[in-house]
Amino acid sequence: MGSFQASLSRSFPGALTAHQYLERVERTIEPLGFTKERTLPLVSICRDELTATFFDDIEDRWGLAFTLAGLGGIPALGRTGWGAAFSHVPNVAGRGCVLVFGFPHIGIETDGTIGVTHRRNQLLPTATCGALASIFQRSQDGTLPAEIDMDDFEVTKLALRLVDPRMPPASLVDLTIAALEALEVDLWKALDSSKIADSHDIAVWCGVQIHGHDGEDWIWPRDAWYCGSDGHRRRFPPAGE
Ligand SMILES: [Zn+2]
Repeated sequence: MGSFQASLSRSFPGALTAHQYLERVERTIEPLGFTKERTLPLVSICRDELTATFFDDIEDRWGLAFTLAGLGGIPALGRTGWGAAFSHVPNVAGRGCVLVFGFPHIGIETDGTIGVTHRRNQLLPTATCGALASIFQRSQDGTLPAEIDMDDFEVTKLALRLVDPRMPPASLVDLTIAALEALEVDLWKALDSSKIADSHDIAVWCGVQIHGHDGEDWIWPRDAWYCGSDGHRRRFPPAGE
């Protein structure tokens, strides 16, 4: 029988607890002026209630956050939503700080099974992430949508965004990484096209959020960037070390 830790270190080597991760983010960006007073957190994580604890921890550290994402954690707010988010950045002290988090998510159960979570007061485990799991299944069955269904907007748009039907992903982990890559592209496209760096400092932290059985969340840190008043985008070490 496998275990949570074995699956975690095989699929997401270097993962930290969500708490450790946010501690490191805070330690890294605070000297750059990302204080609670100057910062607006923008958070791109899935709608799933499992992601709420991480969201709450972000709000405890940096104040109320703007939600960017729909199902799967990919930004779903469109130009109008981005415009609203950027118009809310604190500016009484001059330049404000835009703090962006982007994390698709996945569950790992105590027996090491990847892609499910046994949720509180339920008889059996269910898919985590339900949206990415359904897209993965449809990619294997050859039933991916060919166009956006307005009555199933988020997941059909996500399927078209993430999967080339001629090259279906080999695993749910691979699809989750593809979601992370798409998320990073979309975040930077919105940040660059808005020219928000002209008026505010930016930090972007991305990876995969992993839910363990007992409600403990882990983060696989993959990418982190900072862009200050010189407009130059540079990388942080992803775990902020
Ligand atoms: Zn989800």
